[in-house]
Amino acid sequence: MRTPIVAGNWKMNTSLAEGVALAQGIVSELNIARLGKADVVLAPPFTHLYRVAEIMANKPKLHLAGQNCHAAESGAFTGEVAAGMLRSLGASYVILGHSERRQLFGETDAGVAEKVEAALAQNLRPIVCVGEKLEEREADEQEIVVQKQLTQACFGLSEDDFRRVVLAYEPVWAIGTGKTASPEQAQEIHALLRKAVAKRYSDAVAENTSILYGGSVKPSNAEELFDQPDIDGGLIGGASLKVEDFLAIVYALPVARR
Ligand code: PEP
Repeated sequence: MRTPIVAGNWKMNTSLAEGVALAQGIVSELNIARLGKADVVLAPPFTHLYRVAEIMANKPKLHLAGQNCHAAESGAFTGEVAAGMLRSLGASYVILGHSERRQLFGETDAGVAEKVEAALAQNLRPIVCVGEKLEEREADEQEIVVQKQLTQACFGLSEDDFRRVVLAYEPVWAIGTGKTASPEQAQEIHALLRKAVAKRYSDAVAENTSILYGGSVKPSNAEELFDQPDIDGGLIGGASLKVEDFLAIVYALPVARR
């Protein structure tokens, strides 16, 4: 069975002191016993990872993630961070192909595919983001767009490698905008992604692939999204910066509800 996951993407937010307080709040208030088979992932800025790793040390079910990595193992890439560096400080996940990386920093599907391989080679689980822009949704092209992103970023992988990939459907028009895809809209794309995985690999691989929804998830809409049969959790931006909101979203996972 696939793992339900709630991942917090802090983006370029918080000073170190604020980030430490946020991580400490989450670690001290999270009721791990409620998580069951679910995992919680925190993706702070690179500068905070070492401290947040210390705060999360030895906490089962809590995982650290980078928000990006470079495809190369090392070298003359000023300002970049390698997958092995993330692994060396305790990260076990890395977010790749986030729409902000694609839109603001020119990342391509081919580039994301290289990063996915680099992450897997360092034993990091990539959280690979796909999603259509507003104009693509308006032109009813969302299915073609996400299918192409998934195919190009992931379908060159062997089955064994793909099994370690987490997917995130993040419609660009819903990220940080307060607009959320309706549960039906999100479910439709999640089902399509799962079907594409089944076709490329197998039904068993598709059944075991965690597919997260991202785009203005908040405590008030998390349950109805997470109730959809192909939505296995969330990638959370804005609402991951408040302990109370983030934990309310974690507890909206069906496995964690009281
Ligand atoms: C994100 O950055 O991945 C995201 C989903 O952001 P928000 O929750 O703020 O829309």
